[in-house]
Amino acid sequence: MAKVYTFANQKGGVGKTTSVVNISAFLAAQGCSALVVDVDPQANATSSLGLEEHLAESLKSGDEATVYHALIEGAPVSQIIQTTRRPRLHLVPSSPALAGAEVELVGMLARETLLRKALAPVLRHYDYVMIDTPPSLGLLTVNALTAADGGVIIPVQCEYLALEGLGQLLRTVNLVRDSLNPRLTIAGVVLTMYDTRTRLSQEVADEVRRYFPKQVFKTVIPRNVRLSEAPSFGETILTYSPGSAGALAYGALTDELLGRQV
Ligand code: ATP
Ligand code: MG
Repeated sequence: MAKVYTFANQKGGVGKTTSVVNISAFLAAQGCSALVVDVDPQANATSSLGLEEHLAESLKSGDEATVYHALIEGAPVSQIIQTTRRPRLHLVPSSPALAGAEVELVGMLARETLLRKALAPVLRHYDYVMIDTPPSLGLLTVNALTAADGGVIIPVQCEYLALEGLGQLLRTVNLVRDSLNPRLTIAGVVLTMYDTRTRLSQEVADEVRRYFPKQVFKTVIPRNVRLSEAPSFGETILTYSPGSAGALAYGALTDELLGRQV
């Protein structure tokens, strides 16, 4: 049965997608089967995984089923899953149409548990399910948190105001835990885009560690241009630049995550 992790932080551009895609690639490279579930209408995880062009086109145009169809129309997730270039790494794709779901969900019955129910039949096929969320605390993110039996992983960018908004995220996590998913824990906090040349990065890292004394991963993800280049080639860091500082860090972070579970 898969362990389900949701990556969430309503602050934009903190490294949610980069973490989901690259940790999943490392898990798959280690022999685990991993399913990336893209619950963000920006569909960055979908495009980062380098789907073939015709498929990318038909996802955009709405000819191919996506997570939207699973949530709103009850389409079986098993029929939506796409394979990727990497063995054992599969994807439930997103598309811009998902933006409408945030509104459509409001009127639906059991609207917070739709993703959890949609994923349930495929969980036995995977070791890990990694859910990428949009930069908001709306119903899509609430659905992702409700589905996360393994917990939530919070990427925090080592920048000014890094902790801003985290209180609100934690309140949402607590609400979901109390009413929808009693197994929701904070599985980890990842410090991202750490710049060794600045004192600010160090200060933010220290502050986040004080705030989350137990949850912050020892592995820190450095600011590394290779990590930002890889998605435009539809590649993960593992194939794009396996010797880069970014690859080494995501490899180490994956090991740390695996180690935490035993
Ligand atoms: P959103 O909230 O919009 O979904 P996000 O939290 O998913 O954003 P990413 O898309 O992973 O954030 O990262 C934001 C940008 O920063 C992207 O262009 C990404 O390539 C780049 N980036 C992420 N991590 C790093 C890093 N460690 N070093 C350099 N660039 C990075
Ligand atoms: Mg993203």
